Amino acid sequence: MLVWRKAWLTEAETKLDIDEPGFLYGGVAYETLRTYDMKLFAPKYHYERLLNTLSYLGLELPLDYPTFRRILEEGVQKLGKEASIRVIVVPRGRFSAFEYSPEHGELIVYMRELKVEPLGYVKIKVSNVRKIDPLSTPADLKVAGRTDILLAKRSKGDAYDVIMIGNRGQVCEGTFTNVFLVKKDRLITPSVESGILPGITRLNTLRLCRTLGMTVEERWVELAELYGADEVFLTHTSRGIVPVNEIDEWKRYETRIGQFLASRFEEFIKTVKENWE
Ligand code: PLP
Repeated sequence: MLVWRKAWLTEAETKLDIDEPGFLYGGVAYETLRTYDMKLFAPKYHYERLLNTLSYLGLELPLDYPTFRRILEEGVQKLGKEASIRVIVVPRGRFSAFEYSPEHGELIVYMRELKVEPLGYVKIKVSNVRKIDPLSTPADLKVAGRTDILLAKRSKGDAYDVIMIGNRGQVCEGTFTNVFLVKKDRLITPSVESGILPGITRLNTLRLCRTLGMTVEERWVELAELYGADEVFLTHTSRGIVPVNEIDEWKRYETRIGQFLASRFEEFIKTVKENWE
């Protein structure tokens, strides 16, 4: 693994201080990126989403987009392999048990080889931990250690992901994925207003569907619809589109449309210029 902290370092050369405010007080923003053919996928979207998280935290990132992108590209060249990239921004400022006054953020980048193992039979579960009310913690506040996500992940077992339900019983998203349903050839996905992170893979899936002439309803989704769907698939950066075979150990799904979209995804995203800017 390579780490960037003011310069590219090997894992052995890195150390974090024991009084690191990110450990002591939290508030660490993060993004997970990947490459395709060793080119960064959607770096600008990730940068903008990172700035969005930082704006909630009152943090500035002293790095403009071209510099951010150049650092990541340098890392990919050094790694020399298809990369999985974790970007975090740790707060710097005045902190104590009584005060949280972050001023700016420090960027740290972790880069390792992307290994995408073949998918087996994909199971999901519905989490019995509700998502935090977005009035307390906005759904697009992407910080490490969100307790709704941590607690939901605890029940994951051998499931691929756990679906989180919102404060009014609506289907939201997985702990690292967005969710799509197919019912009688209609495609449905929870709207941003349902309280989800607007995933970059979700956005690209919506675009792919549009290009193929398939309409997707972005709306409020009741839990019963998830159980009643013909198909369900998940979307996330590392894998694109993931058709689901089973939910909660009993209900089985078909995977026809999900498989079809998954097979078109990579070729499609390479044609969208905004993904490579
Ligand atoms: N939902 C949540 C809560 C996430 O943390 C993520 C990604 O980390 C996603 C959805 C999927 O987003 P993306 O497609 O940008 O990877």
